[in-house]
Amino acid sequence: MSLLRFKVVEDAFKKKAIAVEAPGKAVSDYYGKYVFNREQMAKYLSGETIKIILNAIDKGEVLNRDVADHVAAGMKMWAMEMGATHYTHWFHPLTDGTAEKHDAFIEYETRAGGRVIEEFTGKLLAQQEPDASSFPSGGIRNTFEARGYTAWDPSSPAFVVDDTLCIPTVFISYTGEALDYKTPLLKSLSAIDKAATAVAQIFDSKVKKVYSYLGWEQEYFLVDDGLYAARPDLVMTQRTLMGHESAKNQQLEDHYFGAIPTRVQAFMKDIEYEAYKYAIPVKTRHNEVAPNQFELAPIFGETNLSNDQNLLIMAIMKRVARRHGFRVLLHEKPFAGINGSGKHNNWSLGTDTGVGLFTPGRTPEENLQFITFLVNTLVAVHRNNALLKASIMSANNAHRLGANEAPPAIISVFLGTQISGVLDKLEKSTSEEAIVVDAKKKMKLGIAHIPEVLLDNTDRNRTSPFAFTGNRFEFRAVGSSANCASAMTAINTAVAYQLAEFKKEYDAKITSGVTKEKAVFDLLKKYIKESKAIRFDGNGYSNQWKEDAKKRGLDCQTSVPRIFEAYTSEESIKLFTQTGVLSQKELHARNEVKWETYTKKIQIEARVLGDLALNHIVPVASKYQSLLLDNITRVKAVFNDEKATKINAIDMNLVEEIAERISVIQTEVAAMIDARKKANVIEHEQQKANAYHDTVSPYFDKIRYQIDKLEEVVDNEMWPLPKYRELLFIR
Ligand code: ADP
Ligand code: MG
Repeated sequence: MSLLRFKVVEDAFKKKAIAVEAPGKAVSDYYGKYVFNREQMAKYLSGETIKIILNAIDKGEVLNRDVADHVAAGMKMWAMEMGATHYTHWFHPLTDGTAEKHDAFIEYETRAGGRVIEEFTGKLLAQQEPDASSFPSGGIRNTFEARGYTAWDPSSPAFVVDDTLCIPTVFISYTGEALDYKTPLLKSLSAIDKAATAVAQIFDSKVKKVYSYLGWEQEYFLVDDGLYAARPDLVMTQRTLMGHESAKNQQLEDHYFGAIPTRVQAFMKDIEYEAYKYAIPVKTRHNEVAPNQFELAPIFGETNLSNDQNLLIMAIMKRVARRHGFRVLLHEKPFAGINGSGKHNNWSLGTDTGVGLFTPGRTPEENLQFITFLVNTLVAVHRNNALLKASIMSANNAHRLGANEAPPAIISVFLGTQISGVLDKLEKSTSEEAIVVDAKKKMKLGIAHIPEVLLDNTDRNRTSPFAFTGNRFEFRAVGSSANCASAMTAINTAVAYQLAEFKKEYDAKITSGVTKEKAVFDLLKKYIKESKAIRFDGNGYSNQWKEDAKKRGLDCQTSVPRIFEAYTSEESIKLFTQTGVLSQKELHARNEVKWETYTKKIQIEARVLGDLALNHIVPVASKYQSLLLDNITRVKAVFNDEKATKINAIDMNLVEEIAERISVIQTEVAAMIDARKKANVIEHEQQKANAYHDTVSPYFDKIRYQIDKLEEVVDNEMWPLPKYRELLFIR
């Protein structure tokens, strides 16, 4: 085994950057080449069909069979010209990543004597019934009633990967419950559209639609694929379960924004070309803080589309990395002691009239609207801070949150001094002085002037899990491997619910004869007071904050399975059912899935850790211990007692240390296995997950600690697993 380590290290050193050629002269030559976008639609579909599709996308109108048949025929023609022979419904089950089942276009032509033809009808486009019994459903669908439907989502364009036409779809059970991430996301987007449009119309009657926008920043690690293969923990769990810190890691801060290594640069170029072919507008690439950590970010877009693009790019990254002799790690915390990876979700709302609802405006009306949306968001985040945390929580992400480099496991909002100042002033002012209607019936804001461009870069707080950054909020607590839909569904639903509340209260005031401006101001003042506890501009990593947050009544739960309970609290059920995003049954079922997934992840990690500890590390440490003992015996044979004791002193200590550590490892692994066995017989999903959290996972650090200490003393030549310095610095 140790031979394997040195072989892969040697091979990795020899690897050179792979040459990557641009697919065309200008990006516009190949941008969107593999996507059935509006341009392609125009070539393959009639004007009438396109109009109906666009109506379906913009107004949610239902597409009939005839239209679906037309679209299917056009899509098939286009896809076949792109070399596709198969098609698949592409959906997002409640696992990491996406699912697809490929079917060939071929069909027997019954009328023409059974010859084979290519067929793809509207029926096949619109709906499929994958045998879905093995996707997580939280008990909604018993296995004997295994049918689940996938149904076409026309708002995200179809695309071709290799030989397969991929059609983005939702995935629902036979009885209509959502079994995926996309269904509730789409429902939350229509909820926010409805609620936000009603509020935006207070300020501008021309607004007909509000869009939710998402700009994700994908962080990831790259590891040489040979080194990866020699680390069973990486292969099985995507994270290192052991490994002593490298002497140098990120303390010199020389990796962030540093020169990109050539092999990595080639990988990034390749990714960008691929992304452009799928019309994913990637724009930013750079080194991240930790060694071998990088980031990729596109220009933001409509949330559903942007999320599909993120899922697609995660798949593309994995594939392209292999071409370059790398493995991409999307896990939130692949290495202890250095930064983990997140996926900041830049989120905003914008009207069909082109106004960003979180963008400070040029006129008092626009600014009043801006503050209205901002304050309602504060209230929503405050009321639902436990839920928002649940929406980003996972076994993986728990390693990152609360550690010293990531947002803490407490949700708060950073506004920066300028906006905070405006809200403070507004809170204290009387509405008479805050708002002045001048002679020409023009409204004026008496409150502090809001600059059009905020100096967000100087006023940034990297420790905040939910930060206002000038024209959007950055939900930073989202994990790098997560499906953004979870966080985006939660925030859009929470804000939609709150905006509807606001509108209700506003309407009541108007009915009672209050002016529009006063109604808005009175509500904002009330809301600013009420949501104060969520505002925090200080250092989120400090221990003081943990205490303060508790006093403020913010959710401070750190146990992952318990954090999920926020989904089924009375308030959350009200929130999701009233907005029509998820039913109570769905919420409960989805929590079952979360608990089950959590248990399985910890279970797998525990197994891998036990195996590595007992079968890889302990034998090597014993072997080294024997070598030391041999040496000690030989010394004794040659020298007199006094001299031998002196010479052997250090080795004797070492033998003892190793023996002790081996014994602790063996005992702890046995105890961990025992805890697992006890947990395994628990039938209740949440109790089982709690047991895994409380009684199994605490062994991980204890066992790891001993192994990492052994790594420090055992002969380097014998150590079987690639070390951190090799994993992190060879590229
Ligand atoms: P930083 O790392 O400085 O936060 P990046 O450039 O890496 O910024 O990423 C910022 C992301 O935010 C990009 O995807 C960008 O398109 C997106 N973004 C910018 N403005 C908005 C907005 N109004 N709404 C949503 N996303 C936005
Ligand atoms: Mg960034």
